[in-house]
Amino acid sequence: MAKFTTDKLIEFLLKEYTVIAPVEKEGELLFQKIGNAQEASSSLQIPKNSFKQFLLPHEEVLFNFAENSKKELVSQAIFGISIVDLKALLLFDQMFAKDPHYQNRRQNTVIIGQCIVPDDPKFLSIFEENVLERLKFDIFIDRCKNGDPKIFTGSSLGQKILDRLKFSNYEHIDFKGAIEGGKLDAKSQKLKEQIKKVVNNKKFWEEFAKECILCGKCTVACPTCYCFDLVDEGGEISKKQSGVRKRRLSSCFYEDFASVAGGENFLKTKAERLRNYYIHKFIRTPEREQLLGCVGCLRCFRVCPVGIDIRKILAAAMKY
Ligand code: SF4
Ligand code: SF4
Repeated sequence: MAKFTTDKLIEFLLKEYTVIAPVEKEGELLFQKIGNAQEASSSLQIPKNSFKQFLLPHEEVLFNFAENSKKELVSQAIFGISIVDLKALLLFDQMFAKDPHYQNRRQNTVIIGQCIVPDDPKFLSIFEENVLERLKFDIFIDRCKNGDPKIFTGSSLGQKILDRLKFSNYEHIDFKGAIEGGKLDAKSQKLKEQIKKVVNNKKFWEEFAKECILCGKCTVACPTCYCFDLVDEGGEISKKQSGVRKRRLSSCFYEDFASVAGGENFLKTKAERLRNYYIHKFIRTPEREQLLGCVGCLRCFRVCPVGIDIRKILAAAMKY
């Protein structure tokens, strides 16, 4: 039986897929395309970006009016997705279950997960523990404990890849559904109830939003944020010119996000925008999807130029 190494796995994947992995670059850890196994970082930290841009790009053409327009062919492997991001991926899979553009990428993407060493385990403990049988992945590598890595497969594709590598010392885990019993877990329920208690407290949101500069970086970095605009560009169809409809990711922090014809804007102030972000993640998404819209990755805090900290907001909400 062959010995498992991540280098062997990555080199194998590179023969058949575009491989994306965390790379250390100028002091930052970033998911990006790699050309060889040595480029992949062995860090077990959460990268600054997530899988999001590879499954839901910032901008994509949904269709174009020109005849013979071709669909993009995707064949990619994302290596090193942290366990919290696998949870975000579950939410994306539910949200975009009927979206052919997302599904085209998702169905042709190999997911290789790995354990992480969280920078704030206390914060992560307010979320439900991540259990592999409730996550979707092809291969999962647990390198967090001393000794040889422990390898799991979560799909027949994962098994086939390891079989072709002649590695048989792995455990197969069948996906048992995103949620136990089909309803929101107790910890998510608690977070939802606490945010509901502060939802109409204007001062609460004003206090936390006062430094916000409405840059939208938190939503770009967040692995569960997916709001988008539809944009039509191009010429007139009658003249047989080409034209495209694009999906472009947006942010509830942008001034025009909730503006409508007639000049009304449903999110006027910084406080209203911050409040909307929390309502969406902790009330609306769990009520609709039975999954929390936040996985506790802390990217929103790490990228925020003025240090708005989700840990402080949730801690304050928990005291109500
Ligand atoms: S911690 Fe912040 S960035 Fe991470 S999932 Fe929650 S809201 Fe999004
Ligand atoms: S990153 Fe910070 S400053 Fe920028 S929109 Fe988000 S909360 Fe506001």
